[in-house]
Amino acid sequence: MAEVLVFVDHVDGAVRKPTLELLTLARRIGEPVALALGNGAADTAAALAEHGATRVLTADAPEFADYLVVPKVDALQAAHAAVSPVAVLVPSSAEGKEIAARLAVRIGSGIITDAVDLEAGDEGPVATQSAFAASFTTKSRVSKGTPVITVKPNSAAVEAAPAAGAVEALEVSFSAAATGTKVVSRTPRESTGRPELTEAAIVVSGGRGVNGAENFSIIEKLADSLGAAVGASRAAVDAGWYPHSNQVGQTGKSVSPQLYIANGISGAIQHRAGMQTSKTIVAVNKDAEAPIFDLVDYGVVGDLFEVVPQLTSEIESRKG
Ligand SMILES: Cc1cc2nc3c(=O)[nH]c(=O)nc-3n(C[C@H](O)[C@H](O)[C@H](O)COP(=O)(O)OP(=O)(O)OC[C@H]3O[C@@H](n4cnc5c(N)ncnc54)[C@H](O)[C@@H]3O)c2cc1C
Repeated sequence: MAEVLVFVDHVDGAVRKPTLELLTLARRIGEPVALALGNGAADTAAALAEHGATRVLTADAPEFADYLVVPKVDALQAAHAAVSPVAVLVPSSAEGKEIAARLAVRIGSGIITDAVDLEAGDEGPVATQSAFAASFTTKSRVSKGTPVITVKPNSAAVEAAPAAGAVEALEVSFSAAATGTKVVSRTPRESTGRPELTEAAIVVSGGRGVNGAENFSIIEKLADSLGAAVGASRAAVDAGWYPHSNQVGQTGKSVSPQLYIANGISGAIQHRAGMQTSKTIVAVNKDAEAPIFDLVDYGVVGDLFEVVPQLTSEIESRKG
């Protein structure tokens, strides 16, 4: 059976959820072969095998941590040459997209970025993308070379599908460009204990209607009751009520969770651009005419200061 090369995103051997989602999609096209790089690469094997990887190629070298993306591109290119896959799948993070684009240039292939679904097709995998602030859905396939496709987090369910996951060391020789951009320092972000915004299965967001930094605790409590990440509209961020790193939208982060709950957010096109591919959208807004209600699955016309705490306590009581 044809093999599909999956680039693994992991932290010291702990595989991140978007990679497990990629394995679900890869299995629709062929047999997943995973490529894990850097510290803890071999430790990824058990999780990858559990989710369908027939082989796990690994490589570790100081270059992967000490320099920006090029060493990883060198390794992915080496894996591509060794496997001759029918497609290369990469998580759609900023780094993932850069790695994928560089690989596509090197191997002379077409690339599709930010896919939200993937299926097998007679002439190669067909990717679904969401375009123009999600006003259109497009389906496309790469017509030249090995398709290189980056896939957004939360585009598929994580499914157990045990496979061999045989670990094989990959020979990588680094190009002259590999050491061109050195990492000079690293500062770990302070953890909130909440999931990463772009990967979270549930996102609870607040907008101008939250009316002050101190009131964001209402949004955080609802988020914590659901194990969700917290998002914010640009109006809330510009007012200094929440960090810019939590902004959702055209000039913020793009999220595609299973559930998105917008509180006190009007639904401007630039906000929609970052969340419209969410599977289920819920909004709480006191204005029944707010544009956000045009795209919601469930809408509550009401004051968020009354609705959100009640919702939180109802969820907490059901968790019981
Ligand atoms: C180039 C450009 C890029 C942009 N990028 C982004 C972006 O990335 N992300 C983004 O979000 N915006 C972005 N914007 C801004 C965008 O156009 C909107 O101004 C912004 O999204 C509005 O935020 P908001 O919905 O929180 O505020 P508003 O539009 O002011 O809406 C607030 C809503 O809260 C409701 N409300 C008020 N009080 C309550 C209450 N007590 N209970 C319930 N509801 C209440 C109101 O009815 C209203 O609908 C961008 C704009 C430009 C020009």
